[in-house]
Amino acid sequence: MSAPFFRSCMLLFSHSMTTQSVPFIDLKRFEDGFLDTVSERVNLAIKEAHFVGGPERGSCEEALKNFSQAPFLTLCANGTDALQLALRASGIKAGHKIIVPNLTFWASAEAIINVGATPVVLDIDKESFHLNPQKCLEAFEKFQADGIMLVHLFGWANPGTESIRKFCSDHNKVLVEDSAQAIGVELNGKSLIGTSPLATTSFYPAKVLGASGDAGAVFSTNEEMTKLCYTLADHGRSNHYQHGHVGWNSRVGIYECIFLEESIKHIQPRIESRRSVCQRYKEELNSEHFQIHNAEDGITENGYLSVATMNPDHRERFVAHLKEHNIGHGTVYPTPVAQQPGLQAFPHETWLDGSADQVTSSVVNLPCFAYMTESEQSYVIESVKKFF
Ligand SMILES: *Cc1c(COP(=O)(O)O)cnc(C)c1O
Repeated sequence: MSAPFFRSCMLLFSHSMTTQSVPFIDLKRFEDGFLDTVSERVNLAIKEAHFVGGPERGSCEEALKNFSQAPFLTLCANGTDALQLALRASGIKAGHKIIVPNLTFWASAEAIINVGATPVVLDIDKESFHLNPQKCLEAFEKFQADGIMLVHLFGWANPGTESIRKFCSDHNKVLVEDSAQAIGVELNGKSLIGTSPLATTSFYPAKVLGASGDAGAVFSTNEEMTKLCYTLADHGRSNHYQHGHVGWNSRVGIYECIFLEESIKHIQPRIESRRSVCQRYKEELNSEHFQIHNAEDGITENGYLSVATMNPDHRERFVAHLKEHNIGHGTVYPTPVAQQPGLQAFPHETWLDGSADQVTSSVVNLPCFAYMTESEQSYVIESVKKFF
């Protein structure tokens, strides 16, 4: 054996002994037996030629109903379609104006534009990072808005949810709650999604409840609403060759349904595991230089994301420090909606005060995922402490 080869082997050996690394997210930590069960069920479904609408869809919807406590729901192809279905089923079309927060995933605004309506981009509350209910009421007046897309970010809920729901119901305004990050979140001890008049979610694999590919759902307390969403997602069919509406194809595949139904069986421990990571960061890392944010009182978070803010001038160096320690990170979100290049080509209105910009320039997300080990958590915590 040549000396350099031997040396590189030793280096490799010592490297694996001493270097720890923690990814931002690890989607491969399945419970024992989970993958076998999924594979068996998928094989069986293929043999039976159940591809897009077998009994697996019904049993998945039943499991989701039990978990979410939503009286009615329908599955669809992804979370963005779910938003578009909910907007369309609410009668939103060209000429309508819909309020949307300046801090959210782009799809919240995209869906409004895709149904032909005009987004009214409203800045967020500095404390909650969500829309302020009082400001929403003023915006309804100021812009003569027809509805609102209430986004629940970071695995929390908008703390003003109840008053916004009440205002929309009292004043006949359209309300769509983008709960893509909020499955399993509780507001005053009740399921956030289950109590919403109209909410959507995404089962993109990296969400708290993920499918094996893309999927989404619309939830409602109103049966007619979910029926209409189902119809719109199936070419607006009234029967096989009769189309009462212009919809599109937003069906969900059977593999997704099987993977989801099996995942729901493990969702509570997954959420508890994520939540405990967020709590531990709060207890051990929250400081004047590195503020850890969690859901406000009365909201039980699902641990979707760990959210910290810091001096923007030091963020680049901090991120480099994390990289040196092989620790993954996020900056959710780096750009406010109002500054997205894609928005500029479409009619839109804005009411901004710089609050979202403050968050986008100062936010850092530390690793957080189901079944992250204690030693991984400790390594992240020690490494962060070394910087401050
Ligand atoms: C993920 C996400 C969506 C979009 O869901 P897809 O399934 O990727 O289409 C919409 N809104 C928010 C807030 C999201 O996080």
